[in-house]
Amino acid sequence: MKILVLNSGSSSLKFQLFDMPQAKVLVKGLAERIGEKTSRFLANDYEINQPVSSHKEALHLLMDYLLNRGRQIIKDTSEIVGVGHRVVHGGNTFVQTTLITEEVKNKIRELFSLAPLHNPANLIGIETGEEIFGNAKQIAVFDTAFHQSIPIENHKYAIPVDFYNKGVRKYGFHGISHQYVSREANKIIGRTDTKLITLHLGNGASATAVRNGKSFDTSMGFGPMNGLIMGTRSGDIDQSVIFYLMDKLNYKSAEIQNILNKQSGMKALAGSNDLRDIETASGNGDKQAQLALDMYAGTIKKYIGNYTAQMNGMDALVFTAGIGENSQKIRELVCKDMNYLGIEIDDTKNKNPEAYHGDISGKNSKVQILVIPTNEELEIAKQTFELM
Ligand code: ADP
Repeated sequence: MKILVLNSGSSSLKFQLFDMPQAKVLVKGLAERIGEKTSRFLANDYEINQPVSSHKEALHLLMDYLLNRGRQIIKDTSEIVGVGHRVVHGGNTFVQTTLITEEVKNKIRELFSLAPLHNPANLIGIETGEEIFGNAKQIAVFDTAFHQSIPIENHKYAIPVDFYNKGVRKYGFHGISHQYVSREANKIIGRTDTKLITLHLGNGASATAVRNGKSFDTSMGFGPMNGLIMGTRSGDIDQSVIFYLMDKLNYKSAEIQNILNKQSGMKALAGSNDLRDIETASGNGDKQAQLALDMYAGTIKKYIGNYTAQMNGMDALVFTAGIGENSQKIRELVCKDMNYLGIEIDDTKNKNPEAYHGDISGKNSKVQILVIPTNEELEIAKQTFELM
């Protein structure tokens, strides 16, 4: 069964075509800078540098690629029976993967105010998918849905209840990734009644406590700025800072948003949001870069302590995404001096996790320390397949 996964941004469209249930990737690619002169379209090893004016045109290019006789990937559009769409915000409405209907689209529209950068783009992807793959089932997989299991004591803010009733609460993000790696971790551990802490460390970053396969708490909140220090986002910050910037230093709300979203985090601490640059600088003796790495890892440690206390234990700590999968240094700093919590990393295994099936635990570690590459597209394909 062929399932197309679409991840639609405001000016990009990432796609993967899977043959399910074997989970074989037939095509992987993207269209980027849609609407600009410099746009390009890439599918497997095929690239065209022609202007791609819209998401619709990008999907037409994909269809041409798939139907090309020489390639024989599909003979007819109708072979694609399901299209799984990544949707960032499902609010309180969507607690699981959902078949898209007119009503579902209206609800996604109602959630625009909660995710103004993402949901409108996701809806464009859905409408384009419907137009081009009219016979396929269109299915929405939400980034927030996995976190809908977070109990009220962990998702409610201590502010007047009227706001809660208006939807002001913790939603959490990166849910598709946390769900994928927690399932994989449970497979490795061999049971599902586990206490896990999953660390998604990419440009955005979040930590999640996963108990018995369900999200129990997570570090992002109402929006994606909260929690861990990220590439360009501040992570946790005292609310008073925002009022000080507004009332005393005369910054406007939009400027503060921009500062906390795009000018903060590792970029503010060390001058780059690319961790590789910061590791190199730190290796060359740059003190700011070293401080940034220590702060980055230190914040993660605080969340590990928090979640271990909340769950009264932890079976496994899982590293994933660009930094979690690739940075030996960050894994080392996070796990350093954590033996009180039963965390002990093996330095040799940490250098090359793949050679040890991702298990980098030291021999006396009570907690299993795992490096598991995330695969959000595969998770979307699996959930789409399961629903169908
Ligand atoms: P996104 O959130 O955009 O999907 P990724 O998951 O690709 O981001 O993660 C991007 C981050 O991963 C960047 O900070 C990058 O520097 C970091 N990264 C990628 N490869 C390595 C590496 N080999 N060593 C250290 N950091 C890495």
